[in-house]
This record gives sequence, C-alpha cells and structure tokens, in this order.
Amino acid sequence: MSQQKTVIERVGEVPLSRRRFVQWSAAAGGTAGLMGLGGVGLQQAAAADATAAGEKVTWSACTVNCGSRCPLRLVVKDGQIVRVDPDDTGDDAVGTQQIRACVRGRSIRQRIYSAERLKKPLKRTGKRGEGKWAEISWDEAYTIIADKLKDTIAKHGNESVFIQYGTGVIGATVARSWPPGGSAIARLMNCVGGFLDEYNDYSCGQIEAAVDFHYGAWQGSNSNDDLVNSRLVVMFGNNPHETRMSGGGEVFVTQTVKRASGHRVIVVDPRLSETAMNLADEWVPIRPGTDAAFVAGLAHVMIKENLVDQAFLDKYCSGFDEQHLPAGAPAHSSYKSYVLGLGADGVEKTPDWAARITGIPAATITRLAREIATTKPCSVNQGWGIQRHSNGENQSRAPMLLSNLIGQVGISGGGNGERESSAALPMVSFPVLKNPVKPVLPFFAWTDAVVAGKGMGYRQGIRNAENINSNANVKHDVVLGSDIKFIWNYGSNATVNQHADINKTIEILGDESKCEMIVCIENQMTVSAQWSDLVLPDATTAEQIDVIAQGSAGNLGYTILADKAIEPLFDSVPVYEQLTQIADRLGVKQQFTEGRTQEQWVQWLLDESRKAIPELPTLDQLRTQGIFKKKLDSVIGMKKFRDDPVANKLGTPSGKIEIWSSNLYTMSQDWPMDVDGNAIDPLPIYRQTREMPGDPLQQKFPLQCIGHHYKQRTHSSYGNSPWLKEAHPQHVWVNTLDAQARGIAHGDRIRVFNDRGKLELPVYVTPRIMPGVISVPQGAWYRPATPGGVDKGGSVNVLTSQKLTSYAKGNGQHSNLVQVEKA
Ligand code: SF4
Repeated sequence: MSQQKTVIERVGEVPLSRRRFVQWSAAAGGTAGLMGLGGVGLQQAAAADATAAGEKVTWSACTVNCGSRCPLRLVVKDGQIVRVDPDDTGDDAVGTQQIRACVRGRSIRQRIYSAERLKKPLKRTGKRGEGKWAEISWDEAYTIIADKLKDTIAKHGNESVFIQYGTGVIGATVARSWPPGGSAIARLMNCVGGFLDEYNDYSCGQIEAAVDFHYGAWQGSNSNDDLVNSRLVVMFGNNPHETRMSGGGEVFVTQTVKRASGHRVIVVDPRLSETAMNLADEWVPIRPGTDAAFVAGLAHVMIKENLVDQAFLDKYCSGFDEQHLPAGAPAHSSYKSYVLGLGADGVEKTPDWAARITGIPAATITRLAREIATTKPCSVNQGWGIQRHSNGENQSRAPMLLSNLIGQVGISGGGNGERESSAALPMVSFPVLKNPVKPVLPFFAWTDAVVAGKGMGYRQGIRNAENINSNANVKHDVVLGSDIKFIWNYGSNATVNQHADINKTIEILGDESKCEMIVCIENQMTVSAQWSDLVLPDATTAEQIDVIAQGSAGNLGYTILADKAIEPLFDSVPVYEQLTQIADRLGVKQQFTEGRTQEQWVQWLLDESRKAIPELPTLDQLRTQGIFKKKLDSVIGMKKFRDDPVANKLGTPSGKIEIWSSNLYTMSQDWPMDVDGNAIDPLPIYRQTREMPGDPLQQKFPLQCIGHHYKQRTHSSYGNSPWLKEAHPQHVWVNTLDAQARGIAHGDRIRVFNDRGKLELPVYVTPRIMPGVISVPQGAWYRPATPGGVDKGGSVNVLTSQKLTSYAKGNGQHSNLVQVEKA
C-alpha cells in the first residue's frame, strides 16, 4: 500500500485527464491477481487499450445505485474477463465527455468472480439467519416459490406479497431491481393479481414527500452544466466526488464547469467531504439536522438588511410575509414572522440563535447571508443526506426556501434548492402491466407491516395507489388488509443491512410465523441473502444482455448496451429466465413473456425508444458501438413557471411556491403527532426532533452519528471487494478534540454504541469532521460473531433507528446519538 499511497499523494501534480487514471491505477493495479485472473499493474494499465490476440471486447456496464451509469468494456479471453477498460468514446468536454468508470466499476471483476458468488439454488435448513443451507435443483426452487405464492395469496390476499426495495441492479431495464414496481418481479406479480407496492425510497424519502407541498411536485433543479453561468454555488451536503465519481456522474461536470467559470463554491456539510475538499472555496461545518436553523439565521440577516428578493417573493410565492398568506392562515404564521420572533414561539431567529443550534459562528452566518443574497446568479442545491434526518421534511425544504428568498428559481445560473437535474434520453421502460392492489406502503415501514400490517391506514402513511403521487391534502382512505407474509428480495440488501436498526430487524425476521417466506435473487451471499429462506443465484450484468437506458450527467444523455460477455457462472440463471419458469408454474407464462426472450425484449425496448429518438442505433449497431450519446439542452428547473406563473401554475393549492403550505396546515390539524418532537409544520422551520442537538439523551450518548457515502462502496454494493476494502478501509471518523477527550489515538480500535447496538472499527481521527459528530461510512456488511453481537463489519445500521419521520414516514437514518470508547 505504501507505494500506492505515494502515487495518490502525487495526484495534484498531474493534469486532470490523467488524475482519474492515476487514482484508479493506484487503487486497483497494485494488488496481486484474484482467483488466477491476474492483477492489472500500472504499466499494464497504461497499455490497457491494446487488445491482445485471443481477446474480445464486449460492452457492459456498472448498474449499481450511485446515481451514475457507467459503460465498461470487458476484455474476455478464454471465456474469462481478464481486464476492464473504460469508455473510449467522446472527449474531455462537458456534454461530450468520456464516461470513465470510477474505481468501483473498474474493479467489477472482484464482484463477478467473488468467492461469495452464489453457485446453486439454496434452501434454508436451520433457523432463519442461522446460515444452514441445502442445495436444491432449480425445478424444486421454482415449484416451492409458485406453490407458496398461490397459498399465500389464497390465505392472505395479494396485499401480503411485498417486493423489497433493492438497487443492486438499478441501472438495468429488463433485469432492473428498482423501483420495485418497475421490476420484472412486479410484472410477474401483476399477472397473478398484484402485490403490495411502496412509495418513496431510502435515498430521498423525506424530500420526495416535502417537495410536493413546497413546489406542488418534484421539479428538479438546474443541470450542473448550467453552473457555468453561476457566480456562486451553495451545496448543502451534496457530495458527487464520493458518490457519483465518474464521467457519467456529476463530479466531472461540477469540476469542469467550476474551472471554466471561476465561480465560488460553498459546501455546507458536517464533514469535509471529498467534494468540500476538491471543489469548495469554503467549507461550512454544521451540526447534522440543523440546516433549517442555518437558513433561518441567514433569512434574519437578509430580512433585516432588505436583501431578500421581495419582488420575486411577492409574485411567485405564498406565505413569506403576512400580506401573502392564504385566506384562513392564522395571524403571524408567515415565515417572516417566524424569523422575526412574531410567530407562535416568540423567538427571534438571529444569527446568534442559529449559531447556538448549528455550531456555525454568528459572524459567519451574517457574512454568508450577505454574500448569498448579493452574488447572483447563485445556485443553491442539496444532496440527499440533509433530509435523511428525524426532521428531514423541514430540512429538505430549507435549501428550497433559501433559493426562493434570493429569487434564483427558474433562471440560468440559479437553482431551486432541490437536487440538480440532468438531461436524459426518453427511453422506454420495461412494461410491468397494472397492479390492482390499492394500498401502498411507505418504503421504510415494511418492518411495521411485517409485525402488524393489517389495519395500517392513513396515519401510518398508507396511500391509495390511485392518487399515490398526491399526498397534498388527500386523505387516503385505504387500509392494509394483511401483514406482509411473503417478501421478494431482488438485488436488495435492504432486508437487513441497509434497513435501520439491524438488531430489531433480525428479531422481527427471526419470528418465522410473521413473514413466512423470503425469496432472495442475488449473485452474492449478502447479509440480506443470509436472512432469506430461498436464495437463487442470479447472473451478473456481464452474463446477460440488457439495455442501460437512463444514463445522464449534466447535459449529456446516453444509453449503453450491456451485452453478454461471458456465460453465467456456476449454476446461475438471469432473473428474467427464473421468473419465466415461475410464471410457467403459475400458469401465466405467455402473459409474462409475451413470447419474448430477454434479448427480444431488449430489441423491443430499443425499437420502441427509437420512435422518440430516431437516431438511436439498432441492437446490432449497439453491439459494436456499445454506447449512444447525445448532447442535450441544459435543464433550467422551473423555467416555464418563472417565465409565466399564471399559465404554468404549480401543483400547490395556490399554484405558487408555498413557503407556508396550506395543505400541510390542513394535515397538521387532522394528524396530530406527539412522539419524538414530530409535528407537521406548514413552514420549513427548524424543529428539534429525535436525537438532535439538545436532546436529553445526549447525557448518555453525547455524539451525533451520521453515515456518509464512501468511495469503497455504492451503498453495500462492492462491499466485499478486497481491492476496494484495501484502498478505502472502513473506519469511524472522529474529531480530534472528541478523540483526545476519550484518550483515543488515530488507528485505535474503538467501540461505537447506543441502546440499539454496538460496532467496533479502527478510528480515523481528523479535524475533517465537526466536533461532537462522528461518521460511520454507510454500507459496510454487518459481521457480528453471533447475531445481535458486536458488529465487526461496521454497519452503521446497528446504530440507526426504525422510528418514522413525521409525514413522509421515512428514514431518519442520520439522526443517531451514540458514545464511543476505546475497544
Ligand atoms: S459506482 Fe457509479 S460512478 Fe462508479 S463505475 Fe459504477 S456507475 Fe460508475
């Protein structure tokens, strides 16, 4: 490793186009060969483009859930993948860039040839989670599943069959795992009466709910290529440099446009992330979950100094001040009244007030308020982390509100405070037929629905499929008719590892009388696979054909043909073929397949998509070409609304941006909440909810614990890759002051614990994280000696809580109070 470290440290001395190459080579090349395939050294990598005799290149892709989709050119010799080469089309310009895969995709051979690849269908023989299995034939596996499905539907109805959220193959189209309702499993279930679907997701459940009230629906902010027109960019917890770190991700675009425009970048984040380090001119450390207080402090300065864009607020927004509240709103309920201390709490939200909550000095808040209000165009955007808190709904609205205060919505160089958009090709999705089941579950409440789903209704977040996207003032009147009895898990580690409070989850799953059957279709023995009843070995993307439809970054839209590079390893079978066999046993094979093989579906998808994209190549052309790219127009979010707000009303009751949401106000009257400080607030105010700064629980567990995304993994995908584990080891980030106070030195093994669980990891002592905050990089695989014991793998979810947020009923997985000690 020492030689590799030296190379990485020298990255700053080489031109950008070389940097990615050096970073990858350092991470992947120095390791000796895997399973006889041979490693790729620096010199070999330099000659990577040369295809030697007997080698064949097949285009494939990395399909995990990082937000990007990257082409991979798999070099195959004698039936084995011997090398992974990147995209070799395009150039170094935004909109025509090479989509160079990151270190994760480049190491994909370690997933394909992993020692943990599933080889045969497995049936559980011991208790669930005990790890005792018997190999069975495919015929037996298909028959067990078909019989159990028929029995479950007959006894409990189709509402008792749930398809788990899973993003292991999010980028595919036929073999797509997300959204669950868009997967081939959904198509199969819809042939036999449907299934219990879910809404929103672990990535962004709170903002998905909250944005409907603020903007009427998800709008999307400007695409990042448009930042070239910004003078200032303010990023709340947005971290492309560690999440979407390829040419198809946003890191290339953000880095390149910053260099071209010279704009200033401010990153607000509890952690000096790779993005803060490499892109930002200023890092603003903040206590997790307090962004709405920060924005209130900024607003106080802007209001007092007449820096808000009053003309924009008057014309486009509802509820900023008393003059623009809708009829029926209580007096002094506007945002301005809240900030000036004229509202119900009587507290003025001065910079000093905000400083006490956020940890950001008052002078910094004042300075930033003046800069943000006077440097235009200014783009405000956010990543998903700030809303993954117990007060996540209000948190997610705070950056939107900031963009409203400065009037930067719908213009080039500006932004609406949501996450960035990107321009994508209008590719056709895999058709899944109609799901007749009406109740729809909030994604995070599935464990509740296993324990006591029957009778869950509106106040538990159950929505009606017929108006699933309209939580605005719709009192959903459906009730769930059954507990969850059958779980399909396809490409998902959310059944255990990625769901919150692992110890509680495995206790629930350990009661086999509740959920009676868990079928896992996977290519690795993941933590969730270990807690299943049947495990079916899936072919990897390299072992089947598919189309990677929705690639996009900035203003570049692209589609990749992921062709079959090698035969499925061991006894693995592509998911579509597995489901075809089960459909046959359920008597719906013709309806499920419409007579098509997987390759014929790919052909059909391309042909259908070509109706809207005439220049889209044919399947045969794509087999050679691999990728189709098209430079598209930049996205300017909400431009039509900005240009003509009367003709292009938003989906809110007023048709305007609702800073004070009348629908949330109505819901707050009808849906009282009295646990964990939860409430429904018409305004995006700061609310101290569960495990926030100031919680009395801090006397026992004083530190806030978040779980940042980390280069080693995309969530839990690639989590068992030896190369990546060596290059990016799992460790707990602890601030230097907090470590000193506990006698902890860099590299010590420490124990992190709360009342929900314990984990043990080496510590990374650093000033790169806010004092009082620690971070356990999320996605590591849970590895206790015995279930419920101390987790030596370092999964943050032994510490996280299953408690639901207020109205999104989502995952506040970054709101955790913990203590640390030397192990
Ligand atoms: S993890 Fe994401 S950025 Fe990296 S290669 Fe895969 S798709 Fe691309």
